[in-house]
Amino acid sequence: MKRHSPPGLALEDRMASPIPVSQPLSVPMRSELIQIGGAGPAGLAAAITLARAGRRVLVHELHGEVGHRFDGDFQGLENWSDGHDVLDWLRALGMTSEFNTLPLSRGYVFDAWGERYAVAGTKTLFYLVERGPGPGTLDTAMLQQARALGVEVRFNSRLDRLDGPGILAAGPKAPDAIAVGYHFETSLQDGFWAIFDDRLAPQGYAYLLIMAGRGTVKSCMFADFGQAHLYVQRTVAAFERLTGLVMVNPIANGGVGNFHIPARALTGMHPVVGEEAGFQDFLWGFGMRYAILSGVLAARSLLEGSSYEALWRRELEPAMGSSMVNRALFGLLGNRGYRWILRRNQSQHWDAHHVLRKLYQPWPVKQLLLPWARSRYTSRRRDESCDHVECTCVWCRRGEHRGAGAAGACGSRMNT
Ligand SMILES: Cc1cc2nc3c(=O)[nH]c(=O)nc-3n(C[C@H](O)[C@H](O)[C@H](O)COP(=O)(O)OP(=O)(O)OC[C@H]3O[C@@H](n4cnc5c(N)ncnc54)[C@H](O)[C@@H]3O)c2cc1C
Repeated sequence: MKRHSPPGLALEDRMASPIPVSQPLSVPMRSELIQIGGAGPAGLAAAITLARAGRRVLVHELHGEVGHRFDGDFQGLENWSDGHDVLDWLRALGMTSEFNTLPLSRGYVFDAWGERYAVAGTKTLFYLVERGPGPGTLDTAMLQQARALGVEVRFNSRLDRLDGPGILAAGPKAPDAIAVGYHFETSLQDGFWAIFDDRLAPQGYAYLLIMAGRGTVKSCMFADFGQAHLYVQRTVAAFERLTGLVMVNPIANGGVGNFHIPARALTGMHPVVGEEAGFQDFLWGFGMRYAILSGVLAARSLLEGSSYEALWRRELEPAMGSSMVNRALFGLLGNRGYRWILRRNQSQHWDAHHVLRKLYQPWPVKQLLLPWARSRYTSRRRDESCDHVECTCVWCRRGEHRGAGAAGACGSRMNT
């Protein structure tokens, strides 16, 4: 059977094979400035790729620092969807891996009745990384790499209109999931803990991540956001009871995720990358790899004059479709279903790395289930990227052009 590849597997090999060029982009002249809107992982990955090829790049960042919305958050760089170690994968893409990481191959998951299950892999399940503007974070490392390559990053600069070559990387535009909780200091040991209980995190999961005396506790919910405050209270109380968590100097933190397979990931002729396009892991929100890979693909499409649409559909869409099916199946489980799976994990001594790797593969059966999954999943996203050739908007809502003077700038539709 042909094995499909999740995002980025053997990317270098596959980039060498011919790509159907349905909408070739014009290759910017070598001296032409390429502008990028957003200094998140997606925008910085694009900037680094372009600068490595000797291009002039200007990144506009709305806030005064990188990773502003994460502010010291801990996140997992997942290591199961690919046959390779994710840090090797980053280096193969030309990205830095010089940031603080904590490899985790074992943790604990609780069911809704407080039963604890060890979840262990023979390989690292994910690397815990820090996000935000501080030292040692993923965002700071990518910023430093970009600057060392000559990229200009302009802070407190909102990109409202994009004339000339460029890439749009402005982050999520609608909340399909939210993760809310606290950052804190703690004497708990390093590690990860999760709880699958819809009374704490509807259709999602509650999690606790600790690295070097600091941590984050969150309810990651996919429904009922209006009651978020209640779910956070329950999540904190549950972790205090189950793990002995004591938060010192807690600071509230949270954010949204946008999960959406776009009709097209172009606004005018400009590639849209990362969560601005909706690229995410529908199951649990491990979006960083999608952000970085889509940034690299968009940059390569500009460098080669190849079709970004063809690239992301080949490299990202199969894995997104698979994760959308995973989400639809997960939504059927409920508390008893989560417990059933956790018990099987325990009685059969699952290798969590192996099981997750299989779960994320876009097997043919997943393709068969995709129409069903699509019918069950509705993104809160109401815009589709714009197909007006000369659109300069940073993003458009259903053909309604937002941004300075954009309406006047829009010309004819693309021929596809
Ligand atoms: C609480 C939380 C926990 C998460 N945990 C994980 C995890 O454990 N693992 C994982 O892989 N993923 C996780 N994610 C998802 C991951 O953070 C995102 O998928 C990833 O950051 C998306 O990168 P991006 O570059 O597309 O967008 P962002 O990181 O949002 O970056 C977009 C940037 O664009 C800037 N911007 C916006 N508008 C403009 C404009 N007009 N002009 C200029 N700049 C602009 C923003 O200020 C921002 O800096 C989590 C997300 C949240 C909210």
